[in-house]
Amino acid sequence: MPSAFEDLLIPRPEGLYCPPGEFYIDPMQPVARAMVTHGHADHARSGHGAVMASTQTLDIMAIRYGEDFAGERQEGTADPVEVNGVKVSFHPAGHVLGSCQIRLEHGGTRAVVSGDYSRVANPACAPFEPVPCDLFITEATFALPVFKHPKPSDEIAKLIASVRNFPDRPHLIGAYALGKAQRVIMLLREAGWDAPIYVHGALQRLCDYHIEQGVPLGDLRPATMDKAEAKGLREAIVISPPSAFASPWVQRFVDPVIGFASGWMQIRARARQRGVELPLVISDHVDWPDLTGTIRELNPTEFWITHGRDDALMRWAELEQRRARPLHLVGYEEEPE
Ligand SMILES: [Zn+2]
Ligand SMILES: [Zn+2]
Repeated sequence: MPSAFEDLLIPRPEGLYCPPGEFYIDPMQPVARAMVTHGHADHARSGHGAVMASTQTLDIMAIRYGEDFAGERQEGTADPVEVNGVKVSFHPAGHVLGSCQIRLEHGGTRAVVSGDYSRVANPACAPFEPVPCDLFITEATFALPVFKHPKPSDEIAKLIASVRNFPDRPHLIGAYALGKAQRVIMLLREAGWDAPIYVHGALQRLCDYHIEQGVPLGDLRPATMDKAEAKGLREAIVISPPSAFASPWVQRFVDPVIGFASGWMQIRARARQRGVELPLVISDHVDWPDLTGTIRELNPTEFWITHGRDDALMRWAELEQRRARPLHLVGYEEEPE
């Protein structure tokens, strides 16, 4: 079914394209002009001619790809700027530090591209701001009625209880480098965990950047101890990217408890498959109630689904008599580093 909104946004192989503005949003391939919602690698790629994004997302891209990640940078803010006649503004998405929804306005039509987003308070980033629109573009990572994320504080309480029960076993918690790692650390701090937290070297720069941006991560120590030092630790919590569990780095820890903080940990088979003893269901994405609740709240004329599971959401839209359309954009991952 053709949509009246295709004059403003249209899916192309490179990504979502705005014809009047002549720019892409979160393109998967290098383009002349890109607007970027957030710093996760599948949304923020290097090599574009020009990038407009929040200051924090621009900083994060520079940390990950180097200062020359794009030909030109432009800061996107809540104050709209005109790009070829399209008003463009950026509004917090509550997903990771710097993450924004991008609002476009052209010829009286308002569209919001939410990127990835979450409605649950996250001490490591600004909260999602509902932005009224005619067209809302949503992800669908956890878009099945079975996905209902537990309270993050309850998951962190499980981690702390396990550390107290097994003080001699170091607890190695897998968490993606941008967002999840810092959120787990902040949740521990909020739960009163004041002791040093050990972090894998791959997380250091992004942790430092969060601290610079006013996210008080507390006493972090590099997880570079040798085997003897590691053995002497009691009640040690070590945060690392999940990929490090397959590297020689992990061998310095004797009899560790392997944990993993991810929305996917709600699926027990996934936890088992990854050899995870302590699954922590902590997600930076909306679950089913928050996703459908957001669409009801914004009540757009139409909503489009960028990536993830769209079949249940399409069925829900039909039952609610809402206009919806799956875009089947390829190239976005389920939960990237
Ligand atoms: Zn993301
Ligand atoms: Zn994504």
